[in-house]
Amino acid sequence: MAPQYRERTFIAVKPDGVHRHIIGDIIKRFEQKGFKLVAMKFTQADDALLQKHYSALSKKPFFPDLIKYMSSGPVCAMVWEGLNVVKTGRTMLGATNPMDSAPGTIRGDFCVQVGRNICHGSDSVESANTEVALWFKPAELVNWDPVAKPWVYEDD
Ligand code: UDP
Repeated sequence: MAPQYRERTFIAVKPDGVHRHIIGDIIKRFEQKGFKLVAMKFTQADDALLQKHYSALSKKPFFPDLIKYMSSGPVCAMVWEGLNVVKTGRTMLGATNPMDSAPGTIRGDFCVQVGRNICHGSDSVESANTEVALWFKPAELVNWDPVAKPWVYEDD
């Protein structure tokens, strides 16, 4: 598989998305887009993991509430792979604040307020690599070739 098709991003359904039964809708959008699921775990994240995950935001006033929110229940953590998946994944999620998220995006369609915005997606290839390594062991990332691959990509 050509390297540009192997880009990966870390996507998570946050506790509010889990409680509101939106896991399936979010998976469905990434599947039907043509991206490939590489890893998935349903897990209760502890504060240490979440503080590392959101370390760039540690000085923000909303940081304590963010950690409380993210540790308040289980999350569905995933790795998705495909051409331009980091940027496209962010577009599919929609703006961070659902008040600004366009209809048709996940946040635009399923949530209302920034502190309950139901999903996470890596914001760059570099942070995707860091986040995938933080949430998953290498052995948890599955190498497989979907039979639909030649129907998604022109030249591979
Ligand atoms: N957040 C918040 N209040 C804010 C900004 C962000 O509660 O004013 C939360 C929100 O859940 C967001 C997360 O902090 O998804 C991380 O913020 P970031 O700016 O990294 O946005 P994201 O990358 O998640 O779109």
